Amino acid sequence: MATEIQCVKCGLTRAALAKPPFRAGSKLGPLGAELVEKVCASCYNDWIAMSVKLVNEMRLDTTDPRGQELWLKQMKLFLNLEQSGDPWARFLNQRVALETLAGVQTHATMIGISETELRFAEFAGGAVPSGFRALETQGAASIARDAIKTLESA
Ligand SMILES: [Zn+2]
Repeated sequence: MATEIQCVKCGLTRAALAKPPFRAGSKLGPLGAELVEKVCASCYNDWIAMSVKLVNEMRLDTTDPRGQELWLKQMKLFLNLEQSGDPWARFLNQRVALETLAGVQTHATMIGISETELRFAEFAGGAVPSGFRALETQGAASIARDAIKTLESA
């Protein structure tokens, strides 16, 4: 029987991870233990799915220390382990409705945030709307944060 915990990501009481995703005693051992205590298995699986997109889209090399650090940072943001203070972080991996200052309206899935840009994929209709910069991954694109007029959960 899996232990149930109150998850910091979804807020629900659900089954915890059956075992820590990182080996005890390794550098990430303490983080693995924290994940078992705070994040439900379902949300962790959501992160894994998200992580695959991120690694592809950002060309993250997870064998490189810098790549690993970025990966961990995105994970902590996604799972609410770290308060980013970024009002848009809560939309990560969610379907959003957005309008740009140029008046383009669309629906998309937010797949990443940086200090200057927001990244999206799965645009309504499949095509990258005008004003967005297409990324290497099919259907993904970024836009400057200050080009966004409104953005909300769809
Ligand atoms: Zn959860």
